[in-house]
Amino acid sequence: MKHSQDLNEDVAEVLLSEDQIRVKVTELGKRISADYAGRELTLVSVLKGSLPFMADLMRQIDLPLRIDLMEVSSYGGTATESSGLVRILKDLSAPIDGRDVLLVEDIIDTGLTLNYLLRYLRGKNPRSIKVCSLLDKPARRLVEIPIDYVGFEIPDAFVVGYGLDFGEVYRNLRFVGVLRPEAYES
Ligand code: 5GP
Repeated sequence: MKHSQDLNEDVAEVLLSEDQIRVKVTELGKRISADYAGRELTLVSVLKGSLPFMADLMRQIDLPLRIDLMEVSSYGGTATESSGLVRILKDLSAPIDGRDVLLVEDIIDTGLTLNYLLRYLRGKNPRSIKVCSLLDKPARRLVEIPIDYVGFEIPDAFVVGYGLDFGEVYRNLRFVGVLRPEAYES
């Protein structure tokens, strides 16, 4: 993989602008605040891709809340395809039994990672568990899972930016975009 020094040069198309993302995150925060009014939330996000979304979303939720972070990696797979076999690299740091949990994800693609995480977290006896994902790529879904809060439905393209990487690069782009084919070539 070769990336330019100016990462913007590798982007073929901006799918979601910084402004569109900001407006949507505010809207999601309002809905979540209304739906959980009078309760306390635990936001669980999955490193590293969800980091910017989590940081922005939590500041748009007007409720007492806690956050926790997990990190998972897929076995096998390629740079752009997940395999569905998930290994936990970092577990929750506090119990979630009896708590209202909202799992904050960057993108749901095949749904295999989410499926694994939901089963894992349900085993820890939360009071409730729902899912909020910034992006949803329904075209490639292998496991049907209801997503309670979705930011944007996107077409079947590999996207980077706002947390999402290719080879660990591009996470700091402030928008979500599609790479030029040259950026994929090794
Ligand atoms: P799933 O298990 O739903 O197929 O994939 C979930 C994970 O695969 C995401 O959390 C993300 O890390 C990665 N992923 C899926 N689609 C994309 C994409 O278009 N771009 C990037 N950068 N990562 C993706």
